[in-house]
Order: sequence, then C-alpha cells, then structure tokens
Amino acid sequence: MSATIIDGKQVSASIREELARRTAELKARHGLIPGIGVVLVGEDPASQSYVKSKERTAEELGFYSKTHRVPVETSEAEVLRLVEEFNRDPKIHGILVQLPLPPHINENAVIYAIDPKKDVDGFHPVNIGRLHMGEECFVPCTPNGVIELLDRTGVELKGKNAVVVGRSNIVGKPVSMLLLSRHATVTICHSRTRDLAAECRRADVLVAAVGKARLITAEMIKPGAVVIDVGVNRVDGKLVGDVDFEGAAKVASAITPVPGGVGPMTIAMLMKNTLLAAERTL
Ligand code: NDP
Repeated sequence: MSATIIDGKQVSASIREELARRTAELKARHGLIPGIGVVLVGEDPASQSYVKSKERTAEELGFYSKTHRVPVETSEAEVLRLVEEFNRDPKIHGILVQLPLPPHINENAVIYAIDPKKDVDGFHPVNIGRLHMGEECFVPCTPNGVIELLDRTGVELKGKNAVVVGRSNIVGKPVSMLLLSRHATVTICHSRTRDLAAECRRADVLVAAVGKARLITAEMIKPGAVVIDVGVNRVDGKLVGDVDFEGAAKVASAITPVPGGVGPMTIAMLMKNTLLAAERTL
C-alpha cells in the first residue's frame, strides 16, 4: 500500500485565497481591515523567521499589521505594557506574542494579559475553557490546522479511534479536545505511556506531536490509518517529523509530510482567527 500524501501547502494556499476574498469583502462592505499585533522579544532565529512569515502572510491577505520588536533584556512590565497597548488599539483585532519568551518573563502572565477577544493564538485560559465547553472561542492554530487537514482530506472522525501522542497545552491537549468534539474515541499518550506501540496500533487516526525524530515507526501504525505528523525536528540539517515517513507511508492510507504538512496550516489558521476576531467586532 502507498499512502496518499496530505498536501498542507496546497490546502493552506486555498485557505489563504478564501481569507483574502473574505478580507476584501469585509473592507468593501464595512470599511473594516483585520489587524494583527505582534510582540517579538529577542533575536531567536526561529522566532524571527516565524514572525517574518506571519507578517508576509498578513500583508498578502490585505491585513493591517504592527510588530513590536524589542531586545531580549526587555522587562516583563514593558512586554505587558505593549500587550495592553494592543488590547486598547481598535485597529488591532488579533494579538500574537511570539513564544518562547526569555526566562525572566513569565509567559503565563503575558498570556493572561491578552484580551481573550484578541487572543488569536487561543492560549488564554478563557479560550481554553471555552474550547473544553464546546463554546465559541479561538481554537489554537496548529490543532485547528490538523482538524482542517483531516476535514479537507475527507476523513470521517465520528466513532473512530484517534490516538494523540503528546499532551502539551499548545498541541496535544487541544487537538485531543477537538477530535473528541468530532465524536472520535480519543486516547492521549505521553512520556509515561506504558506501551506506546500498542496504543498507536489501535489508531484509525494517529496524531504525533512529540518532538522526537521518527519516534513513530511503520510497525506502530495500523494498516490504512490516517497519520498526521505535527513534529518538526532538525536532523543533520534536515527537517523531519515524529513519524518515520518512508516506512509509515507504506502502511498508512494517508499521511502528512514534514515539511509541507501541518506546518503551513498553522499560519493560515492564525490569519483565519484574526479575520474572525475582526468579523466578531461588527
Ligand atoms: P512539548 O515538548 O511541549 O510536548 C511533547 C509531548 O510529547 C509531551 O507531552 C511529552 O510527554 C511527549 N513525549 C515526549 N517523549 C515521548 C515519548 N518517548 N513517548 C511518548 N510521548 C512522549 O512539544 P509541543 O507539543 O510543543 O510540540 C511537539 C512537536 O510539534 C515539536 O516537534 C514541535 O516542534 C512541533 N510543533 C509544530 C508546529 C507546527 O506548526 N508544525 C507547532 C507547534 C509544535 P510528557 O508530557 O509526559 O513530558
């Protein structure tokens, strides 16, 4: 068997097209331009490159964007002040504080300071709580991207066994909650799971969000399963996922590549949340 490759680049491009169309409509009908405010502390190369692509995508879609780039030694009080400035700015509908923050800044304090109505990353406890209650909220971008990829691949989740490997607040837990809300039977695995291979083999849908290169091998995959690989690991200067792609593609029915799978979806979902935030002000 050879799996269908789930092309995140293509799906995210078609989502961006839709978003650009909706943005133009919002502007024409209501004179409203979605705005995103970004805070970037320090010069971590990965964070800088993420912020650059977010700015570029925002511009392509016709959004307004404003970025505060501040040095690594910036105090927590100053970062909180910048967040507050965005909270009060009517041109800004979505706020993004690029993580990780330097160790002298309490990340939770900064996340708590973001107005939940502008929390387009979906990390504020109000949005996390609403997600768990099944209420309208901002869904965290990477998990939202995973579900969108499954939807656009035509994967039926109802009644399926979904296994998520990883239980972080930004990926594992929210993606599990979303799968549950789609009526999958969800198992969440982590570093203390006793028999990871056995748990994975029960999965009709397997989501790997671990951060360990090629941890999931072909023997751990049920024939015909759909495999979504969130992991991004650098091995010998190359990006690889948490799944051994070559082996897994022979067993799975569909699989996301790394790069080009979940990665491109994350920014598209951030922009979708920002557009929603703007639409919700009407
Ligand atoms: P975290 O490090 O926060 O969480 C990793 C999780 O994996 C933890 O729950 C941990 O368990 C679990 N884990 C670690 N080792 C094992 C193991 N041997 N067996 C089973 N479970 C294990 O990572 P994130 O959730 O932030 O990210 C996961 C991956 O996704 C990373 O590679 C990251 O780079 C990538 N990522 C990709 C994004 C994208 O846009 N494509 C966005 C965000 C993340 P425990 O809780 O017990 O420690």
